Amino acid sequence: RFITLEGGEGAGKSTQAGRLVAALAAEGIPMLRTREPGGAPGAEAIRSVLLGQGPWDGVAECMLHFAARREHVERTIRPALETGTWVVSDRFADSTLAYQCFGQGVPRRVFDALAALALEGLRPDLTLVLEIDPEAGLARAAARGDANRYEAMDTDFHARVRDGFRAIAAAEPDRCLLLDATGTPEGVAGAILKAVRARLLP
Ligand code: C5P
Repeated sequence: RFITLEGGEGAGKSTQAGRLVAALAAEGIPMLRTREPGGAPGAEAIRSVLLGQGPWDGVAECMLHFAARREHVERTIRPALETGTWVVSDRFADSTLAYQCFGQGVPRRVFDALAALALEGLRPDLTLVLEIDPEAGLARAAARGDANRYEAMDTDFHARVRDGFRAIAAAEPDRCLLLDATGTPEGVAGAILKAVRARLLP
């Protein structure tokens, strides 16, 4: 099974990825936790370039994300899924749709073409979209002390990203679940585990 966590800055994706992996591993399920951009050696190298340089041309940025994602899928995700390991990824393709297309205005057809080439049909079984008001999320990210150039972008940008994630979740309700991320880490983790049990466990 392939589970992805999506959402804007400071939504708590990393915290929840860790909790979810720990909870399912405790039930005896082999688990792999990974993240994007990154998750494979070449993909981590592309992450440094993506976050260290810029601003990028939007299409070029999409291509870099999908080059990294292809490495991640072929070297990390597919091999794990093939051996029966469950994969939990902190971000996946929906982030490119939300940030680069909804946020930066890259045409949807660019995303669709690159996704077809890079993913060859791979689709998460469940995507948990953690939603937080951009102002609150950016404050959390700033408190974490690792603000990067994306986090410095204007709040209109982050509001478009948030609207993008909402639209993605609404368009694919069989795959996606929109969750309120403003609660306590324990509360959000409980809601996530409940969704995983209802949708993926017998
Ligand atoms: O999730 P994480 O904070 O590690 O992501 C690193 C940065 O890359 C974030 O600030 C996020 O906004 C940005 N990003 C992006 N487009 C993506 C994925 C991540 O701009 N497709």
